[in-house]
Amino acid sequence: MGETCWSEFELIDTFFNMPSADLPDEIIAGIGDDAAVIRPDGKTPLLVTNDLMIEDVHYRAAWMSPFDLARKLVRINVSDIAAMGGQPAFGLLSIGLPSPLGENWLQDFSGGLSQAFKTFGITLIGGDTSQSPGPVIVALTLMGKAINGAFVPRHSPRPRDTLYVTGTLGDAAAGLTILESQTEDSPSHRNTREAFLITRHIAPTPRVAVAGEIAARQLASCMIDISDGLVADLGHLLEKSDLGAEISLESIPLSPAFRDTASGCNPSPELLILEGGEDYELLFTSPIQPEKMAKEIAGVPLTPIGTITDNKGIRIFKDGALFPVGTGGFKHQFKQKDSNHE
Ligand code: ADP
Ligand code: MG
Repeated sequence: MGETCWSEFELIDTFFNMPSADLPDEIIAGIGDDAAVIRPDGKTPLLVTNDLMIEDVHYRAAWMSPFDLARKLVRINVSDIAAMGGQPAFGLLSIGLPSPLGENWLQDFSGGLSQAFKTFGITLIGGDTSQSPGPVIVALTLMGKAINGAFVPRHSPRPRDTLYVTGTLGDAAAGLTILESQTEDSPSHRNTREAFLITRHIAPTPRVAVAGEIAARQLASCMIDISDGLVADLGHLLEKSDLGAEISLESIPLSPAFRDTASGCNPSPELLILEGGEDYELLFTSPIQPEKMAKEIAGVPLTPIGTITDNKGIRIFKDGALFPVGTGGFKHQFKQKDSNHE
């Protein structure tokens, strides 16, 4: 008797995806993009996404209050709408909760939710509520609008496009390593650099305004938000093409806090930058050369980090030499017992 094992993406492809030729005409983009794009009335495209957070898989209650959890749930979903260049609008909240809950859990969670909804202009229009036998499970379905019909898909890079990222990379992964190394004896007050990195993990900033401008000004040929890590998400961006990418490690933008703190981190700074996820920055490709590209939009820097190439594969260069990388990022794994055919 053996076991079959699927990664998250193999599982989705094997059991839930369907050939794009079988999709109804109203579906402009289905499974595989940051958000689905549907045009039910033939007019304004509606963007729809869903992200789930499970206690002890996606977060630990010791690191995140119910307020923080609600805020992060909203922000990671908003980031997927932003990755399409859209504006968030309506949400459906599903919650599975153990009983008894901690004191004030619901007040704190609903406080975080309303604050985040207010920040991003989202109205709650439904959801589902259940008891959970174990961990807290929260999921948000978020709908957004592609303003003036403009949205940016994930899978259409073109040869010789430049690759750009917003903001800085590696911060959230460095923040996570700090949280993971925390013991009961750790000081309760963090220095400002550590506090910044932890905040980047707990309260990421979805790049809605930047992405909206990128879509409206047609600056990008394709775009994704970096949730799984730079290498993994670049892999997603390239997966439906025969193209590859080259990146120079030195050109990847880093925050002063990351530079000061990460050299002492385990995993290495390079691994945090390339394979650490959850920065929720935008990665996009553009035919516009760096000299002509805006240096920043809505106060957020745009940095060229590499180019799209004709040959497949992702090549990272450090000091001119090829730098070895894995496929990157955290992957959920699923096993199924095989039946015994003896
Ligand atoms: P992201 O990191 O942008 O949130 P995911 O990696 O979670 O995207 O998912 C990749 C794609 O697969 C998305 O288009 C998502 O909607 C789709 N997807 C994920 N899980 C399922 C599922 N169980 N059934 C159908 N589609 C799914
Ligand atoms: Mg995404």
